[in-house]
Amino acid sequence: MFSDKEEFKEAFKAKLETKLGKKAEEATERDAYKALGALVQERISRNWVKTNQDYRTNKNKQVYYFSMEFLMGRLLGNNLLNLKMLSLVEEGLDDLGLNLTSLEEKEHDAGLGNGGLGRLAACFLDSLASLELAGHGYGIRYRYGMFEQHIIDGQQVELPDHWLSQDFIWEVRRPEEAVEVRFGGNVEAVKNESGPLHFEYKNYEQVQAVPYDVPIAGYNNDTVNTLRLWSAEPIVENTLRKAEIENNSASFLDYKRELESISSFLYPDDSTDEGKRLRLKQEYFLVSAGVQSVIRSFERLDLPWTSFPDKAALHINDTHPALVIPELMRILMDEKGLGWEEAWDLTQSSVSYTNHTTLSEALEAWPVDMVRSLLPRIFMIIDEINERFCQDLWRTYPGDFDRIADLAIVADGQVKMAHLSIVGSHSVNGVAKLHTEILKKREMKRFYDTFPERFNNKTNGITHRRWLMHANKPLSSAITEAIGDSWMEQPKRLEDLLNKQEDHPFLDRLHDIKQENKQKLVDWVQETQGIAVDPASIFDVHIKRLHGYKRQLLNALHIMHLYNEIKSDPTLDIVPRTFFFGAKAASSYHFAKKVIQLINRIAHVVNNDRDVKDKIKVVFLPNYSVSIAERVIPASNVSEQISTASKEASGTGNMKFMMNGALTVGTMDGANVEIHDLVGDDNIYTFGMSSEEVLEYYRNGSYSSREIYENDSRVRHTLDQLVHYSPFSKGETDFQEIYDALLTYNDEFFVLKDFASYLFTQQKVSRDYLNQREWNKKSLINIAKSGKFSSDRTIQEYATDIWQIQRTRMLK
Ligand SMILES: *Cc1c(COP(=O)(O)O)cnc(C)c1O
Repeated sequence: MFSDKEEFKEAFKAKLETKLGKKAEEATERDAYKALGALVQERISRNWVKTNQDYRTNKNKQVYYFSMEFLMGRLLGNNLLNLKMLSLVEEGLDDLGLNLTSLEEKEHDAGLGNGGLGRLAACFLDSLASLELAGHGYGIRYRYGMFEQHIIDGQQVELPDHWLSQDFIWEVRRPEEAVEVRFGGNVEAVKNESGPLHFEYKNYEQVQAVPYDVPIAGYNNDTVNTLRLWSAEPIVENTLRKAEIENNSASFLDYKRELESISSFLYPDDSTDEGKRLRLKQEYFLVSAGVQSVIRSFERLDLPWTSFPDKAALHINDTHPALVIPELMRILMDEKGLGWEEAWDLTQSSVSYTNHTTLSEALEAWPVDMVRSLLPRIFMIIDEINERFCQDLWRTYPGDFDRIADLAIVADGQVKMAHLSIVGSHSVNGVAKLHTEILKKREMKRFYDTFPERFNNKTNGITHRRWLMHANKPLSSAITEAIGDSWMEQPKRLEDLLNKQEDHPFLDRLHDIKQENKQKLVDWVQETQGIAVDPASIFDVHIKRLHGYKRQLLNALHIMHLYNEIKSDPTLDIVPRTFFFGAKAASSYHFAKKVIQLINRIAHVVNNDRDVKDKIKVVFLPNYSVSIAERVIPASNVSEQISTASKEASGTGNMKFMMNGALTVGTMDGANVEIHDLVGDDNIYTFGMSSEEVLEYYRNGSYSSREIYENDSRVRHTLDQLVHYSPFSKGETDFQEIYDALLTYNDEFFVLKDFASYLFTQQKVSRDYLNQREWNKKSLINIAKSGKFSSDRTIQEYATDIWQIQRTRMLK
């Protein structure tokens, strides 16, 4: 590294000249960002080469984490932190009249994901490298990431996220590692006189998968792992030949565009299976490129196939990459000549699967016809896996047609990806204790009965390096001053803060830091949105994807109710509160977009009304993303985690808030249950129905939202305001759909059922906030107990229980 800041400054200035042809004085912030990035990348690259060499020489087992999404956010700050170069660089830049934070903001978020699932993958990569574990990500290099959200006339408008237009400085194109992926065509069974029956694949369409590698540097160590993102490109000779044959340059361009569309854009829906052919192409593209590359690395070790599971673990993040199973079978059998039994054994022993949801509309199922025509050989293998699995079931449960039909992988003209994933792997994990129990007892009960040993829980986590050390530097320093810095490598040690519960100067310091963070957010909101926010108000924050089950609507109705209360008595003494929202709705999710419109309408009404605007305020932050989360979470007092119990598999936003000292208002759902277990009743605000109650209502169908509407005048009044003449509706029908969902369609997510209990809990929050000392103590306890939610803990559990890999000390 750099021995001092002078050395850094020299190297930085030299980089500006050699890379950008500019003197320090004439460089823009963007130039400076690029030069700094290039310097950092050079430092990282030395260890990257060493790490790869080390893995090859030591033949360590490698983990390949297959995920359709990696929501990485910005990398500069995180890389500087992990390289321990932060303060040196900050001071050096300062001397040159540059501000590190402003340079960091020049970086476009790498938004190759929708939300929680993609962000989890990103946190896992950071933990793998930081724990010196050999684990890499495989994903797609979408040319357009998660759409950019604009709010125009109070409604969401989606703009394409052309994140590559300004160079992604961290990637390295590796054409020499490209592989070919095949689609369509037909399969012929061939029997030679001598050899066994084999299958020949013909008339297929070829696509070149070119990897772009991104280095993932561990914290304070020499490990640099790889995130490999695949890009779809035409194979030049083939496209030329095709163009020649057709002698038609228009069709050549169409052909090229069609191939490239495979890695063009991320599907912007995180909870509905759209079943689109292009999406299936994307999934197989990732899987086939990834598996071929895994096999290639394994073959370089020159070991027998029997040792494959000792050298490679293939993990699938949800079912999107489930075709890893038949693809590995295909290569082992058709290309490497293994028999079915042996290939199956190697496949099952090396593949593991994480389930992320029990929402039925999110469970992937592909039409048989689509799979068969797009991936004929893969379909044959899936069909055979299904046949053999059903025969096994028949032996265990003779005559139990119902059970076998229920468990089959191919049924009702569909390929069920979750079934394929369970049958073809050795481990199936849920992402929080409650979620795993629901999988075992309900959603996947019959699979659990069949393969109990495969099921296990791995409660999600977040990297405390990005979400605390990087996002909240003042808090991070205060913690270190109080208990030393061992918590940075062992986040459990945050518990040492529990000794500070009666340390008033320390509690005041926590309070001051929170206020400074709030002030920074206030300034930013003023500057970007022109809304004046009172930093003394409670910052109540609800940021996550917009979805019915996440119940942003419950929060919105609560604010409408508060507005009504203040209007009917303008002298009402309430604790000032600012409600922040950030949420993208899938472009096709009409109801979710209506909720966004409602929140923006409420903001407009509330913020412009003299009677209420100093008591409550509503701020909708457009384009919620990782970098916005990093800005908002350190400034939060209240964390809204109010999903319908049983619906949120884990949540990870809840963990980020807790680690930054916000108190949770939440249902007993997902990992909220585990937060509650850690901090106890006094340090979290739980409310609402339990998951058992919710599931019981779904089963017996006895819920009536209209009954609540009729009996609770507060509910009736606010709902009527959605459709009758009111400040919120102005007599228009904008929100009829919301009203209908809650009444005509009986409120699928129990918003009205939990309304009273939510209101009651929020009143308690307001009262408690007035006692700042007690509040700060609760906040301290949350921070102290948050170490469990470091993704280092999660990854260590995956490493030990699922992947069976160990920390490897690198050769120096
Ligand atoms: C953490 C995170 C999420 C997940 O939030 P939940 O509250 O768990 O749904 C989604 N998007 C971004 C940008 C995140 O950082």
